[in-house]
Amino acid sequence: MRIEFLRERLESLGAKPGHVRRILAAWLAARPLDAGARRQPAEHCLPRALREALPALAHEWANLACLRSRHPGGDGSARLLVGLADGQTVESVLLPRDGVCISTQVGCAVGCAFCMTGKSGLLRQLGSAEIVAQLVLARSLRPVKKVVFMGMGEPAHNLDAVLEAIALMGSEGGIAHKNLVLSTVGDRRVFDRLPHAPVKPALALSLHTTDPALRRQLLPKAPAIEPAELVALGEDYARACGYPIQYQWTLLAGVNDGDADIDRIADWLEGKYAMMNFIPFNPVDGSPFRRPSPERLVEVVARLRRRRIVACLRDSAGQDVDGGCGQLRARSLADGAA
Ligand code: SF4
Repeated sequence: MRIEFLRERLESLGAKPGHVRRILAAWLAARPLDAGARRQPAEHCLPRALREALPALAHEWANLACLRSRHPGGDGSARLLVGLADGQTVESVLLPRDGVCISTQVGCAVGCAFCMTGKSGLLRQLGSAEIVAQLVLARSLRPVKKVVFMGMGEPAHNLDAVLEAIALMGSEGGIAHKNLVLSTVGDRRVFDRLPHAPVKPALALSLHTTDPALRRQLLPKAPAIEPAELVALGEDYARACGYPIQYQWTLLAGVNDGDADIDRIADWLEGKYAMMNFIPFNPVDGSPFRRPSPERLVEVVARLRRRRIVACLRDSAGQDVDGGCGQLRARSLADGAA
């Protein structure tokens, strides 16, 4: 389901470009689709056929992403299990401080060794309207001023739909462009296309290590780009869009939390327009990985800060509720099968 189809549908009912913008803006604000219509001068009134079709359209669009279950976390976040029109499910997360994390695919083909979503492989792409509908659902529950594309899926593998959704969120959706954060494991299509996109999102790059061989083990199906080159590409984009690159590094005890790896990334990021988010691994049953000790987490961050690099620890939001991305969906499928 593409945003373009929603536009065409409205036009087929007689909507002029201004009407289309107004209705889409009302949808993205989680207001009734005819919100504000009564205040419009007569010449801007919606055609009758369109007015009469709006309740059915509102119902149809609400089904693009509907709430299956909500799981509040102790940190002010809430994990949402979101049902799609074909019965598939994805996860969104309401983040503290007016953010939402949304999904771009059902499953994911990258298969990161530490990620539950990657275990199922890719089941299907989300359409651009389904991606936007997760923001609408979140806004029906609380205000949202920031959208991060870090839920299920690799946005680079569904880039047309993701960029369409970003363009709408950054225009009719009223989200500041720097508050749209596209997360990727690093893909040349992202670096080629983002600098030319009408709405340039901020970029989060999942690096996880500076060691090329280890990165191939941890992210077996990520594009073959050396970590050092990823940092160079990230720096170019940061300078082009005007926001720092946010590097992501899931910390795995004894795997990628050693001094050599951490000092090398500090060498690479010194003086760069970048910040580092370290995400301590959230242990799950059956995983061979462990979370570093609290003392080690503090030391890892301190090693970068001593080099004047902005670095912080970020637990995955709502990690007390079925942990990281994909675990809520996996649990619901297991419950359904039981
Ligand atoms: Fe895909 Fe992201 Fe999970 Fe890796 S961490 S498998 S890119 S969803």
